[in-house]
Amino acid sequence: MLYHSTRGKDLQIPSMEVIKQGTAPDGGLYIPYKIPELSVVELKEMKGMTYHERVVRILSLFLTDYPEEDLIDCVHAAYNTNKFTNPEFAPVVKLDENLFVLELWHGPTCAFKDMALQLLPHMLITALERTDEESGVVVLVATSGDTGKAALEGFKDVPGTHVVVFYPNQGVSAIQKIQMITQEGSNVDVIAVEGNFDSAQSGVKAIFADESLKRSIERKGYRLSSANSINWGRLIPQVVYYISAWLDLLKTGEAEEDQLIDVVVPTGNFGNILAAYYAKKMGVPIHRLICASNSNNVLTDFINTGLYNRNRKFYKTISPSMDILISSNMERLLFDLADRDFEKVRVWMEELSLNGYYAIDDYGLNKLRSEFWAGYADDVQTLQAIRSTYDAYGYLLDPHTAVGMHVYDQYRRQTGDDHKTILVSTASPFKFAGDVLRALLGSVAVTDTDDIGLLDKLSRVANMPIPPPLANLKDKRVRHKTVCQQSQMKKILADIFQLNGV
Ligand SMILES: *Cc1c(COP(=O)(O)O)cnc(C)c1O
Repeated sequence: MLYHSTRGKDLQIPSMEVIKQGTAPDGGLYIPYKIPELSVVELKEMKGMTYHERVVRILSLFLTDYPEEDLIDCVHAAYNTNKFTNPEFAPVVKLDENLFVLELWHGPTCAFKDMALQLLPHMLITALERTDEESGVVVLVATSGDTGKAALEGFKDVPGTHVVVFYPNQGVSAIQKIQMITQEGSNVDVIAVEGNFDSAQSGVKAIFADESLKRSIERKGYRLSSANSINWGRLIPQVVYYISAWLDLLKTGEAEEDQLIDVVVPTGNFGNILAAYYAKKMGVPIHRLICASNSNNVLTDFINTGLYNRNRKFYKTISPSMDILISSNMERLLFDLADRDFEKVRVWMEELSLNGYYAIDDYGLNKLRSEFWAGYADDVQTLQAIRSTYDAYGYLLDPHTAVGMHVYDQYRRQTGDDHKTILVSTASPFKFAGDVLRALLGSVAVTDTDDIGLLDKLSRVANMPIPPPLANLKDKRVRHKTVCQQSQMKKILADIFQLNGV
């Protein structure tokens, strides 16, 4: 299978190269020439497979230049019970006849990013070895909170790699921050950037676009790559869990093969929901993809009007991993909305970077709205959703998943649609213990502002154990203290790699 950029078709790149590069040199994102489709027979066969076997099967369709034995090794190294606390890795939990929660947070950092970032380092190392690459890889990450930690855990002490994470200094939750600044490993750097996620992401994009900086890093024996969801290698493992969740519904008799389902995804960078869209293209009978945003509802407006406008107030919310106004993966969907016309995509992306907005045509908007439905929840509604879900089902949601739950309710009320639905749960409630407790007990009852201290309290109130990766955080030493401005990010990188003249 060959890949090209969303901004031009002159490139024809095999998958190992795509994984190594992360983003295309023309500023676009890599996509395959064709999304493979699974036949009914193949899907039936996959129903009886383990999670590992399902992952290998899907990977082998996209990563055609990887030997199958390599893929098997990668998948077993990534998904195992030393790293994941649930042997099903991505279990589906039934809340009622219509509603199922896909839990994606049983990995080492308690958020869904582990599903991809435990696997990506192995795919990358394999690609380096199989292509006799001499240089190592510097993995640059801009994070809204969860990607950074997941990349650090995935790449720590992996030979031939070095990870540099930039996070918004005031834009992540207390636990997310402590997870990152206490990170161990000989090949990791963690840096706070003043501003919000978009500042950190723009700074990283500027580094990728700086050819002379790239050449200096190459002279030190490294090439640059990305672990953000703009890297195609992040998306494939995510496609897998949608297919797998649907197969699980078939297996347990909760759904029939030809029965349409809805999927609700709490969304920020548009990576996770895009993976669901690709799962649909591959053969999962998804009726609607429901895009749930917090008060940073740029995607809600886009899906409802066709105007993407990032010139708006930025809100710091209690679902910080979705505090994003530039959803990078939208570019891949735009390519489909434009009927694979990359000139159109290029113009829209130029307008976004010059003016901060673009508007798609009616044709594209109709296509968009035939696949997606969008809504949002503010912080008050998010807290209410945590509370009402706990009251109704005894099931605890983190604030991101609660945004999804609110939008699910809104969708059902407004449309009357009653398809069976998979709600994607993107983080453990313990990762946001303070807000979850405030939702359950009221803010008056929760005066302690230290989320770490509140882990025990949440454990008692909900009668659930603290996930092991969070339980020992309070004893860890702070190792990373650097804070910088967006304008200093290149300089910081130059210092880390002792580059001259940058
Ligand atoms: C990253 C993240 C999201 C948003 O996912 P995207 O792929 O960026 O849309 C939602 N919830 C949590 C907990 C996350 O970490």
